[in-house]
Amino acid sequence: MDQIGIQHDNFRTAALDELAVALGHKGILTAPGDCVRYASDQSGLHGAAPLAVLRPASTEEVSGLLAICHRHRIGVVPQGGRTGLSGGACAPAGTVVLSTERMTGVIEIDEDAMTLTAWAGTPLETVQEAARTAGLDYPVDIGARGTATIGGTIATNAGGIRVLQHGMTRANVLGLEAVLADGSVISRLGKTVKDNSGFDLKQVFIGSEGVLGVVTRAVLQLRRYVTQSALALFAMPDHDAALKCLVAARQRFGSRITAFEGMWPDYWDFVCHETSLASAPLEGRHGFYLLIEIEAEAAGSEAELEEFFAELFEQELVEDGVLAKSLSEAQALWKVREAVGEVDGDFGHHINFDIGVSPSALGRFCTAADARLAQLPEAGAALKVGHVGDGNVHLLVAHDGSAAAEERIEAVIYALLEEWDGAVTAEHGIGRIKARWISHSRSAEELAMMRGLKAQLDPLGILNPGAVLQAAQDSREGRWRYRANPARELP
Ligand SMILES: Cc1cc2nc3c(=O)[nH]c(=O)nc-3n(C[C@H](O)[C@H](O)[C@H](O)COP(=O)(O)OP(=O)(O)OC[C@H]3O[C@@H](n4cnc5c(N)ncnc54)[C@H](O)[C@@H]3O)c2cc1C
Repeated sequence: MDQIGIQHDNFRTAALDELAVALGHKGILTAPGDCVRYASDQSGLHGAAPLAVLRPASTEEVSGLLAICHRHRIGVVPQGGRTGLSGGACAPAGTVVLSTERMTGVIEIDEDAMTLTAWAGTPLETVQEAARTAGLDYPVDIGARGTATIGGTIATNAGGIRVLQHGMTRANVLGLEAVLADGSVISRLGKTVKDNSGFDLKQVFIGSEGVLGVVTRAVLQLRRYVTQSALALFAMPDHDAALKCLVAARQRFGSRITAFEGMWPDYWDFVCHETSLASAPLEGRHGFYLLIEIEAEAAGSEAELEEFFAELFEQELVEDGVLAKSLSEAQALWKVREAVGEVDGDFGHHINFDIGVSPSALGRFCTAADARLAQLPEAGAALKVGHVGDGNVHLLVAHDGSAAAEERIEAVIYALLEEWDGAVTAEHGIGRIKARWISHSRSAEELAMMRGLKAQLDPLGILNPGAVLQAAQDSREGRWRYRANPARELP
């Protein structure tokens, strides 16, 4: 990992002593053996063992510790469950980690307002379960739900399979409390749905990956808990047919569509035939596979999907299909889609792109990406799977494990993405891994505005240095300087 952190000799013992006094012995870890497990997230990037792990238990403690770190110019990496896939929670050398693991728990459920207030370190699944006991639901849902925290999902604006129905995290947060780099607390934990009194400042922190402030508490908008759903897998000639199915499904089911997930044949063959990660629920080979799930208002929704299939079959949009008739059949269908989380061991070295383009352009973009990759000797097999209803594809490209191959493949795919006006990351965030590629998605003017915001909220640049906007520390001043042109100035 790049050595962009504040170096050891700048980390004064006095600062450590101050932090220990402020947090008490439960609130700070300094033994290298304890700190090393906080070095990295699940991105595969290797962070350094932090100088200390700060474990505050309240907003006041977060405020106090940030004020100390600010005074001593110590880089602070906020961490939730460390399930991030972009290296945003990886610690650069010489920084401290601020873990929210002691700031957990549901503070309140307001059934009338349909809101839930929770501490940032609360696991997503705990929030979902608490909401369900009140007959309500928090619709943000991702595979890492057991470990990912509310603070982490807010900081990354997490997406997942229900974005089509309820939007990303930012559409499901009503109130937020965050602490700035100097310890100032920005707290707006109201439940007001309509509030046009000035800028919506909470949105500045949502998706900012810990570089603008530390999220401490949040008020989440709950939805009605629907316990029943119907699920089908359709096979079709190509992505174009899947797009037509999406239009037809929207007309027929409206906001009852809870998932619309696509798999290209390269991915299907790999998980169902080349490995034993999943069993193929359909025979034969098709050009595209679609998992469609709808909310079941009452018994009989399976019949609705069956009718839908018959209609599409008539129009020659689908070639085959299977309907889940039981929970275990539904699990078997989901298994094929979710096997993407387990391909690592079998697929070898690869880059996991998390690309966003217009849903209407996704199929054509993937065809263009395949064509560019075919011309690259560095690129091996490519697998494509994703949230096709949202225009989000996870493109996995195998390579020989060398940095040169990785660099070349990334350069080609991100250059193509720029031509298609797409997003370098649709949901996992920029973190540290993609910071050098951000200019392929954002203009110079947008980047200048981001840097301006960063400079205003965190003038010394101590919060999550090097994430999102690349940074290097000025050794004389101890101030983090942000790079003007991330694509060309590599660290
Ligand atoms: C199996 C698996 C499936 C996944 N599926 C999805 C998916 O479908 N959709 C999706 O969007 N993501 C997905 N992810 C990625 C990951 O789970 C999300 O990014 C998640 O939101 C990270 O939460 P976390 O608590 O683990 O955050 P961390 O990994 O600890 O941190 C992530 C980022 O948020 C910052 N951060 C953490 N807490 C705070 C805080 N309190 N205040 C300020 N900044 C903070 C960190 O500095 C870092 O930049 C998946 C990951 C795994 C391992």
